[in-house]
This record gives sequence, structure tokens and C-alpha cells, in this order.
Amino acid sequence: MRRKINIRFIQTAALAILATLLLTVAVCYHILEKQVLDDLRSYAGIVKHIVTEEAKGFSEKEREELAQNHIRVTLIAPDGTVLLDTSANARDMENHKDRPEVEKAYAQGEGSTIRQSDTMGQSTYYYALLLEDGQVLRVAKDADSIYRIMEMAVPYILVFVAVLLVICCVWSHFLSEGLIRPIRLIAQDVDNIGKTEAYEELKPYIKAIKSQHEDVMQNARMRQEFTANVSHELKTPLAAISGYSELIENGMASSEAETRRFAKEIHTNANRLLTLINDVIRLSELDNGEAEEQLEPVNLREIAQTCVNMLQMNAEMHHVSVSFEGENVIIMATRQMAEEVLYNLCDNAIRYNREGGTVLVTVRDRLDKAVLTVKDTGIGIPGEHQDRIFERFYRVDKGRSKSTGGTGLGLAIVKHILLHLGAEIALESEPGVGTEITVTFQAVRGAQFK
Ligand code: ADP
Repeated sequence: MRRKINIRFIQTAALAILATLLLTVAVCYHILEKQVLDDLRSYAGIVKHIVTEEAKGFSEKEREELAQNHIRVTLIAPDGTVLLDTSANARDMENHKDRPEVEKAYAQGEGSTIRQSDTMGQSTYYYALLLEDGQVLRVAKDADSIYRIMEMAVPYILVFVAVLLVICCVWSHFLSEGLIRPIRLIAQDVDNIGKTEAYEELKPYIKAIKSQHEDVMQNARMRQEFTANVSHELKTPLAAISGYSELIENGMASSEAETRRFAKEIHTNANRLLTLINDVIRLSELDNGEAEEQLEPVNLREIAQTCVNMLQMNAEMHHVSVSFEGENVIIMATRQMAEEVLYNLCDNAIRYNREGGTVLVTVRDRLDKAVLTVKDTGIGIPGEHQDRIFERFYRVDKGRSKSTGGTGLGLAIVKHILLHLGAEIALESEPGVGTEITVTFQAVRGAQFK
């Protein structure tokens, strides 16, 4: 970018210098022309008296002086015949009536022309003046032509251009450095990108980079937090497994009943570890986009029904009754994802219920939507926690979650899946009364039931 700015700047400067020089030469030449013609006009005014009032003609000395000054005087009769010429013999000269300056003088009283001499370097300036007696006095002078002037000026111009170009190069260096500086500062210090002074035009880009940078940092922070949480969650069941197995190893289990109790603890904690690891793997699959299998039309009612049936035993263990009402409705999903959503929501509704409570799962076909609700008569979720329960490892009651086999990741997985499926989730809950979770999917019409 900087190289480009430099090149463009120097190109523009070179062009401007050249144009200015050419224009200056042209203007100077024009002034010179005018000056020479003005001189000839005054000269003619003087000579007029010599040729009219005094005896016509010039002495030999005067002729020489005139020749030295490159001046030539010609007197032309009204019919064009040359009567007198200071540089040639008048009798040998052809009729001058048709010479442009003479023609103009006959017509308008005076006339001038500039003619290129045979040699390229010279021009001849003519000024003709009509005298009172009808004769025309012409004064001519040889002067350097524009080409000659240019030729003489070229060395000076070249030196001048070279000096100007060097100045331009140095200037362009500092100019481009000044232009690039804010951009370089931004690249060097992405953390303080908003504080760096910047051009108005760069602001949208800076805003985008800043928000991307913040996202990246936020993601990194979340990952770090997640890893720390996972390690912490793994520690407790592992410590329990290690502790109970050590007791057995050291012969501390005195009776068979006690051995069984320790083995049961080991079993429970190993299961907890497995569930936790499965959830972590599932979340990381969803995070990395590995779970992006091809979506297909699935019947939400059928999946919900199967899920409710599967959880009946679990519900009985918690003394909770689960019922289902549903209509056939097709959504775009994968069977696994739909099952995971249903399993996690129903499992929570059972685990956070009260003894003798109920869970009602419904699937409704509403216009272009498929609406799934999971309603329980459980402990409910206090308002201040309602927004946060979808965060990873966020639990309202940690003890209850752990004792019922919760990992704190179920709703995070649900939220992730629903985001992927383009579905929306809403929560209504009152502590002590119960919770109702509503998931709204886009319904698919005319698809084959799977
Ligand atoms: P967990 O494995 O702990 O159940 P989840 O991510 O599934 O983790 O849920 C997060 C938290 O939200 C739970 O620990 C619980 O406190 C609360 N929660 C979820 N569902 C319900 C519900 N139906 N009733 C009351 N609390 C709930």
C-alpha cells in the first residue's frame, strides 16, 4: 500500500512539474514575442521619420549596425514594389504586396507576422506600418525561435526537475508514513483498537475487527472456564471412586454388605463420570460443528411418545407420573437431536419434581409451527436464575442436581441443538408450583412420516 501511495504521489508530482514547466515556457515565449513586436513597433515609429522626413536611405554604417542587431528595414511602395531594403538590393527583390504583414498594413494601417526561418533555431518577426503617403515601412528582426529557447532551457529544466523529484520522494516518504501510521498502530495493538486514532473511513472496519476480536477473546475465556469446570466436575467422582476402592483394597469393608455399599458407590460415581464425559463430548461435537448431520423430516409426536415411554421407569422411581398428548407433526431435525432435546427436558421435569407430582408432555400442530411443551408440577425456578440455567454447569441447586445424576450440561446441549435447528425455547416457571418449557419448531408440510 505504501509503495503504491509513493509511486502514485511521485507520478502525479512529476506530471504536475512537467505541465507547469511546459506552460511556463509557453507563457514566457508569448511574452517574448509580444516584447519583440512592441520593440519593432517603437522602432518603426522612429525609422518612419528617418525615411519620410529626412533623405530616404541609410548610410553604409547604419546598414551595418542594423545588420549587427539583426534588424532589417524595408520600404515598400503602394503597389508592392520594394523601394529600399537594408539587407538586400531593392531592385532584385520581388513584389512584396502579398506578404501577410504588408497586406495587413495596407488594409488596417499596421500588421505583424512571425515566420520560421530556414534554420530551425530562428524566427523572423515582421512589423509593417502604413505611412501617410501610402508606402509601407516594414521592420524585421531575427530572434530565437521557441524551439531554440526550449533547447537552451532543457539543461536547466532537467536539473530543476531532478531536484523537485528528490524533494517529492522525501516528502512522499513522510506523507505515506503519516497515512499508514494509524493503520499500523491498529495492527500492532488489537486490544486497544477502539482507542487508536483512525480515519473516518476505517471506522466500520475497526468496529468489525473489534467485535470479532472481542468474540474471539470471549470464546477463549469461555473455553478456559469450561475446561476448568470440567476438570473440577471430574475430580469429585474420581476421588470417590479412588477412596472407596482404596477402602476395599485395605480390607476396610468388614462385611459383605459394606463391600456391596462401597461397590455401589463406585458404580454410581463411575456412571456419573460416564454421563459427564458423554455430555462434554456431545457439547464439543456441537461446538465444532461435527454434529451437523443432514437434517431430515421426523415426526415429533412419535419421538416424544417413545421418550416418555422410556422415562416411565425413571419417573416411577421418583414417584412422578408422566403423561403424553400429541398430534402428528413433522419437523426438520435428526432423530438423535430430537431425542436429546426431549430426553433432557423430560428428565429435568422428573428430577426436579416433588413426590407425587406430574409431568405432561404435549406435541401440537399449530399452523406452520410444531409446539412441544414439557410441563411439571415441580420445585420451579426462581426468576433470577431463569435466564442462566441454559449456561454450561449452571445449577440452581447443586446438591439436588448432583444427587439426581445431573451434570449441569443438559440444558446447554438443548439450547445448542435448538439453535442449530432454528427452533425457539421459552420458559415459564414459578417456585413451588412448577415449570413449563415450550419449544417451537418450524413444521414441515407434505413430507413423508419417518
Ligand atoms: P442438570 O444436569 O443439573 O439438571 P441442566 O442443564 O439440565 O443441568 O439444568 C440446569 C439447572 O436448571 C438445573 O440444575 C436445575 O437447577 C434447573 N432446572 C432445569 N430444569 C428444571 C425444572 N424442570 N424444574 C426446576 N429446575 C430446573
